[in-house]
Amino acid sequence: MDATATSPFSDPLGAHSEGDLRPAAVLAQRAKQRRQMLDLAGLSYVIDAGVLLIYAAAGTVPAIVGAALAGCGLATVTLFLVLSEFGFADRFRDHYCVLPQSTINLVILLGFAYFVPQVGVLFLCSLFIVYGFSALRSTPRQTVIAWSLMAVGVGALLLLSERPISLPMATPLERFATMLVFVLALGRCMFIGVVSSALRERLYRRGVELKATYKRIEELAELDELTGASNRRCIMRMLDDEILRARRTAMPLTIALIDLDWFKRINDLYGHPTGDEVLRTFAITIFANIRNVDRFGRYGGEEFLLVLPETTQDSAQPTLDRLRRIVADLDWSAFSQGMTVTMSVGIASWCNNETPEALLARADDALYEAKADGRNRVALSRPAPGAAPDRAAARAHELRV
Ligand code: GH3
Ligand code: MG
Ligand code: MG
Repeated sequence: MDATATSPFSDPLGAHSEGDLRPAAVLAQRAKQRRQMLDLAGLSYVIDAGVLLIYAAAGTVPAIVGAALAGCGLATVTLFLVLSEFGFADRFRDHYCVLPQSTINLVILLGFAYFVPQVGVLFLCSLFIVYGFSALRSTPRQTVIAWSLMAVGVGALLLLSERPISLPMATPLERFATMLVFVLALGRCMFIGVVSSALRERLYRRGVELKATYKRIEELAELDELTGASNRRCIMRMLDDEILRARRTAMPLTIALIDLDWFKRINDLYGHPTGDEVLRTFAITIFANIRNVDRFGRYGGEEFLLVLPETTQDSAQPTLDRLRRIVADLDWSAFSQGMTVTMSVGIASWCNNETPEALLARADDALYEAKADGRNRVALSRPAPGAAPDRAAARAHELRV
């Protein structure tokens, strides 16, 4: 059995993630939490009634006082239990009915303190405990209203009561009962403290888990499922960012469109799953051989985009040629005997005020040339019409010097 499901305060504020439960299950969960709360309220009344019986044995109060308190308390608990079990409480936003419950408890306990003032402090202690429990379930607004009502009620009691509201200490039995009043009150306060700390801890843990989940979702939304490289949306956003940076810093920026050669043939010869493995291995190989600042993503199918910040077309060419050789020299026969994989590359450097689409179109033209020239090669694009690419190159040269 699930330990958390049996703990009465495993989820003290009903903070259980309801999103993962179906409506019927949510209602059942809420009803269970209300039951737990009402059980504890009933138990609290029974404890007080027990202490009152000791006072009765000491001759301080009539025995009927304890029985009456238990009767009033349990009647209230039963009323709210019935409302809860028949789904009436679920009609309200505050399904715990915190305010009505605490107001009824206020009337009962102040009434007892007024009519039985010789043990009045016992009822005031219980009042604070009941309100402490309620505060765990209530909104800040409800807490302010409930405690303000209590302040008014206690104030009225003190003004109206002509006899001192106290606890007797005359005989050993009375002293024992009075000791119990405080010890049991402190025990219940400790319980409230434990519950609220457990709640805080739980909320903190949930917050940490949520943050981690959110981060993972964000990562997954940006990654290509098959290769683990950035997906098209993400690499395009990165390209936009890098273009903005190049514009701001006047640093060069070069992109490379990489397309695997005769990939359809690889699929046809070795099967689609092997094709997938080839794509994955290719992506890992590229990742392992580029700089941290370079951006690499799957542009679509067997086509990839590499964004090289602070790189001129001239310096990108040997880099891409090196990558081309690494891919071609890889031992692809591990996948299937006789398999070879090569790539063709089209390189283009960003020119002033050029849009990402125009830059990609030039890289695509260069890639087309690389394919037309026989594949497994790197081709450079022609500069954009009317562009001044030398500005970026000159800036890069300045930096090198
Ligand atoms: P070229 O050298 O002219 O680029 O020839 P190609 O065969 O590589 O190009 P083509 O566009 O004719 O075929 C691309 C192939 O890539 C077809 C498609 O099935 C395959 N492909 C695209 N995405 C995936 C994928 O995720 N997994 C696998 N296994 N194959 C894919
Ligand atoms: Mg291809
Ligand atoms: Mg292609």
